Amino acid sequence: MIEENVKNLLGSIPNTNPYGEKVTLVAAVKLQRAEDINRAVAVGITDIGDNHVQEFKDKFVDIVGAPKRHFIGHLQTNKIKYLLGKVDLYHSVDRMNLAEELSKRSAAAGVTSNILIQINIGNEETKGGFSPELAENAYGTISKLPNLNVRGLMAMLPDTDDTDLLKKLAARMRTIYDKLRARNNNIKYLSMGMSGDYELCIEQGSNMIRLGTAIFGARKYNN
Ligand SMILES: *Cc1c(COP(=O)(O)O)cnc(C)c1O
Repeated sequence: MIEENVKNLLGSIPNTNPYGEKVTLVAAVKLQRAEDINRAVAVGITDIGDNHVQEFKDKFVDIVGAPKRHFIGHLQTNKIKYLLGKVDLYHSVDRMNLAEELSKRSAAAGVTSNILIQINIGNEETKGGFSPELAENAYGTISKLPNLNVRGLMAMLPDTDDTDLLKKLAARMRTIYDKLRARNNNIKYLSMGMSGDYELCIEQGSNMIRLGTAIFGARKYNN
């Protein structure tokens, strides 16, 4: 099933978004066994994204095929040390003190960390991230921090069936992204889209999607 899901997705996800940019598929691997992640990698998954530091650590050496490693979950500053130098792209820099701490620890370890700034595009209380109004400001501050390389933005759309609202929010993310890109051509990634909304997100200009359920099926939270 995993193999079939990956093949179907790789065959159906457009190679480029309407802006002509390549769309990268990141497999969201929370709660998945290393064995199942490896099955996905074996049939063409090139990028995997973890949410939990403990899982990342536990499974790190068991993943074969050297996929790119993304960290997509909420990150506590005291756990940064376990990820330094092992993560290709941090998607979820959702607050200033995380950016500062990641910068400090990256400098101390002699590495540069590639990051995305997380935007709370729906201004939801339950989600982290900078408010869209403050996105450019946050970028201005974070892009000056040493040993961080800001590569773009990440967002999670609200969990709603209101397609018009989702389109509007996704389009707003693209507008913010384009403003930053005009300031710095290091900005390359707009990470937006999960199993339920990725098609719409690509149509609105996302170029990186994070899919879990669509690859691995429904997650089992009970063990
Ligand atoms: C779990 C998760 C995903 C994938 O969600 P699905 O709906 O299973 O595709 C994407 N992004 C983040 C940040 C996640 O935590």
